Amino acid sequence: MSRRDVEHGTSPVGVDASSPSAGPAAPTLLHTPSFQEMWRELLPVGRHPDSRGYRRYAWTGADAECRDWFKGQAEARGLTYELDRNGNQWAWVGDPEAGDAIVTGSHLDSVPDGGAFDGPLGVVSSFAALDELRRRGVQFGKPLAIVNFGDEEGARFGLACVGSRLAAGQLTVEQAHRLTDGDGITLPRAMEAAGYDPEGIGADPERLARIGAFVELHVEQGRALDLSGDRVGIASAIWPHGRWRFDFRGEANHAGTTRLVDRRDPMLSYAETVLAARCEAELAGAVATFGKIAVEPNGVNAIPSLVRGWLDSRAEDQATLDTVVGGIEKAAHAYADAHGIDLDVVRESFTPVVEFDHALRDELARILGTGSELTVPVLGTGAGHDAGILSGSIPTAMLFVRNPTGVSHSPAEFAAEDDCVAGVSALADVLEGLACR
Ligand SMILES: [Zn+2]
Repeated sequence: MSRRDVEHGTSPVGVDASSPSAGPAAPTLLHTPSFQEMWRELLPVGRHPDSRGYRRYAWTGADAECRDWFKGQAEARGLTYELDRNGNQWAWVGDPEAGDAIVTGSHLDSVPDGGAFDGPLGVVSSFAALDELRRRGVQFGKPLAIVNFGDEEGARFGLACVGSRLAAGQLTVEQAHRLTDGDGITLPRAMEAAGYDPEGIGADPERLARIGAFVELHVEQGRALDLSGDRVGIASAIWPHGRWRFDFRGEANHAGTTRLVDRRDPMLSYAETVLAARCEAELAGAVATFGKIAVEPNGVNAIPSLVRGWLDSRAEDQATLDTVVGGIEKAAHAYADAHGIDLDVVRESFTPVVEFDHALRDELARILGTGSELTVPVLGTGAGHDAGILSGSIPTAMLFVRNPTGVSHSPAEFAAEDDCVAGVSALADVLEGLACR
């Protein structure tokens, strides 16, 4: 266990951390920064001066700055601060041990050259929503916590959601010890170098057992809300998704002297397969992408002997995904046969559909629907999240905030301030509804 494992924030007004019914009385002596102030504080952290994208990788200096910021926000509000055994940070109102806690939060790390919103919007909105509830004078009947999950994007060690996977027991200690970054540094060594004790990493069922519901607010990574004209939506499910490797093998030969009719060129059947993937996905309302390719011998004046392409495909449900990938494979084999090419298709990874808790989802819809003429849209997503990992252990739900371009994992990622503020308000409503039920 780390010396930093549990630290209690100082509370000038004496927030009673021993009672689960402790209300979120606001510390009046400390300044609690507004959403806009918090946002401005975080903006420069880990931002690359050339790309303007974020490089907040797990257990690096930028990550430490984000973690210090989180702890500072907890202290400014008189919250009880905890660092768990897997490097996730928690800030509590009320007694963490009381059980049936309502937890919200997200992550502060980024993909390489990521945007400002993916992750931080959820964490900043959580603190702002708590401030809003204190302004409303809401008295909670349950403990409430804000969490920052470590290493969500997997940018450094190649596996996403390491903090939540470890806590949920979906990543074993042995697997975690084998995670290595591009410089050959293992996860435990990286944690040590950042001043954390990696001894205790592993499943944390006692901590998850304290939680009655987890709600993650996130910037939408698509344009569904923009197209429907809504600021905020509720997640239904994370689409099933997988990766497949297509190996097209032909015959290397001279690009200048080999007659077209004599060639066995795997690039042709690969190219036709890319077009077939687009067509199959379009017909099914799914997505299919060939985003990575390896060519041998990879010479400008050589007909390739091998074209290896990786397909990423995602769909609303398993049957649709099976249809799309099955259709692409069938087309690929037909094109390969027509050109005298050998084809092997290997599924490299697969994640089944994650359905968020139906009762919790319906409760969010009920809370957000009250007093509003607009029904809150419920939408699926093709992206993974900590909430998806935790959905196997505890009831989880997600709120999405409108992203006008749909661009994500890019410096161009954006959400308008009005929409972010609407997200804070919706999250506050949800927390109030859940913590007072
Ligand atoms: Zn995210």
